[in-house]
Amino acid sequence: QQGLKYYGIVEDCCCDYETVDRINEDVLYPLLHEIVKYPFLRYFKVKLWCDCPFWPDDGMCRLRDCSVCECPENEFPKTFRESSSHSHSSDDIVCQEGKPEATVDRTIDTKAFRGWIVEDNPWTNDDETDTDEMTYVNLQLNPERYTGYTGPSARRIWDAIYTENCPKYPSGECQEKRILYKLISGLHSSISIHIAADYLIDEKTNTWGQNLSLLYDRVLKYPDRVRNLYFTFLFVLRSVTKATDYLEQADYDTGNPLEDMNTKLMMKKLLHDSKLQDACPKPFDEAKLWKGQSGPELMQQTQRQFRNISALMDCVGCEKCRLWGKLQVLGLGTALKILFSVNGQEHSGQTLQRNEVIALINLLHRLSESVKFVHDMGPSVERIFGKQISAS
Ligand code: FAD
Repeated sequence: QQGLKYYGIVEDCCCDYETVDRINEDVLYPLLHEIVKYPFLRYFKVKLWCDCPFWPDDGMCRLRDCSVCECPENEFPKTFRESSSHSHSSDDIVCQEGKPEATVDRTIDTKAFRGWIVEDNPWTNDDETDTDEMTYVNLQLNPERYTGYTGPSARRIWDAIYTENCPKYPSGECQEKRILYKLISGLHSSISIHIAADYLIDEKTNTWGQNLSLLYDRVLKYPDRVRNLYFTFLFVLRSVTKATDYLEQADYDTGNPLEDMNTKLMMKKLLHDSKLQDACPKPFDEAKLWKGQSGPELMQQTQRQFRNISALMDCVGCEKCRLWGKLQVLGLGTALKILFSVNGQEHSGQTLQRNEVIALINLLHRLSESVKFVHDMGPSVERIFGKQISAS
């Protein structure tokens, strides 16, 4: 058990901590951990090399591990490819630090999006319909983990996010104003947790392992950050359950009938699991928000701020961090799009892009993994490191 620090209902949500841990352990994490391995969900389309719109590039990639290994064309699913004569030389297949443009495949779009709408997400800065310079990345080969990206470059992004785009409001302030900070803080906690869970312990011997003092120093020491993680998890979970009809009927075709059928089955399992539905039928109640007189204006302001945060992802000076930053921000943007109306209008139906579904489910998996890590490791880490702090 996590101890008495986290009990009762997760703030602004509809389920309690204990239930969240239980359904995550029993249902969500095991399912999500399998689903993200299937071809439909493991290839993410992303524009990785855009200029930062706010300041000159200060990219600082200290480790080789910072760079992203793209998919060679023969690897990503058949239906993602165009049957053109275009092909890459074998040189393109390796992870290319320094000349990433060489592996960009600009031919993949028309078939990949067959049957899927192409529409810009109003919550994000990237124009999702603009496919120039987009490329596919196999997420399984590029796990979110420690990269060595740190110092002023990383700090500048987080500072710009928090100070300019989502200030922390006191808890008495309305939920609409607090929501963006909580979502970003929850995502930030999750990123830090993944750094702690998969850390380069010894550079010389290339030994990877857990860094539990980092987990304590960056997340567990601040109960608010843990609470915000749970909040973000439930918020994204609610968006997935709200989009059940759409996600159930979506076309998961990648040209591999067996794996595609399994993807569909697993999605169905996730969306209709009775344990989940009995224990936490509505993880978050979006209907309560934006109701007051200033509701529409507040929502537009939140949307503008979120778009700025999304634009800041192009300033992240490490490829792999940018990849996961972009994916998770698109995932959050998709959750916001599902749960809230667009430009003050009720969103009609759930029309999602293929890439939005991929981002949403991978984000839910990241958050689920973080909740699990905190639940599994939290109590003993707090005992060890919390004591050291209070004793010193
Ligand atoms: P930071 O994590 O940089 O935090 C900066 C400040 O933000 C803290 O001092 C604190 O005041 C505040 N803060 C911290 N956590 C929270 C929270 N949960 N809620 C509210 N406020 C908080 N590094 C990797 O090794 N791998 C990655 O995959 C990776 N992905 C990244 C993705 C993005 C989008 C960004 C901007 C950075 C990423 N980084 C990644 C860098 C990493 O997040 C840290 O910035 C870096 O490790 C330095 O950490 P730090 O101790 O200075 O604190």
